[in-house]
Amino acid sequence: MPAMTPRAVEQRPVFLRVDIGCRGCARSVQLSGPLLRTPCASCGLDAEIGAAVWLALFREIDERSFPSETPRDQTFESSQPTAAGTLGARWRAAALTCAKCQREMTPVEPGTNEAIECSACGTRRDTFPAPAWLRTELPTAMQLYGAARDGAERAGTETGFWITFQGTPPSLSDQHRQAIQSAIGPAPISYAAPLSVPNAAPRRRWEWLAIALFAVLIGAAVYRCGGRMGTPSHPDDGSEVEPSP
Ligand SMILES: [Zn+2]
Ligand SMILES: [Zn+2]
Repeated sequence: MPAMTPRAVEQRPVFLRVDIGCRGCARSVQLSGPLLRTPCASCGLDAEIGAAVWLALFREIDERSFPSETPRDQTFESSQPTAAGTLGARWRAAALTCAKCQREMTPVEPGTNEAIECSACGTRRDTFPAPAWLRTELPTAMQLYGAARDGAERAGTETGFWITFQGTPPSLSDQHRQAIQSAIGPAPISYAAPLSVPNAAPRRRWEWLAIALFAVLIGAAVYRCGGRMGTPSHPDDGSEVEPSP
């Protein structure tokens, strides 16, 4: 599988539309980004989506879009149950495009927090890094394009947005690691760490501490004895050659 290496390095844009049923009027509320709260356009009631729900959704999309065989531009569906109803996503592995002329746009370096410009028509598209609460749990989630920023209502009619993933999905790396371990045994680091170090290291440290303590006690005892013996010996006999410690 020579395609796996570049696949793990390249940025993988996924275009998605996400919605959830409104608790108030039961109509569909469009989520134009990984927002934790969005007002329903019909009745104004806030739809709240927990970070864990978003995380489960993005984990699934990351894993399913990762294989290089995943057909581009084929629409997939993923859903996550929530207390308030089902969070549904329709998504496809699709190139980033200009909202006006549909020309393909090149993804920016992850971490960029400013609009990018279409090279053909100059139309700007906002981009910013995936929120910290998502990135800390799913480090492959990189950058959002055309998404609403948290706390800001987005103007316009576009409801879909892109997220880019980069790197091997964490669950797949874990599977690879387990497969390698069952085939050739555990990695040297995890082999050395639990078997030999934890018992030996503290004991050795205690031994050194005990030795140091003994040395100090012996030193103090010798000093005191030497002092006691030395003090009376000095006036008697000035030729004493005992080294004073
Ligand atoms: Zn509503
Ligand atoms: Zn354009």
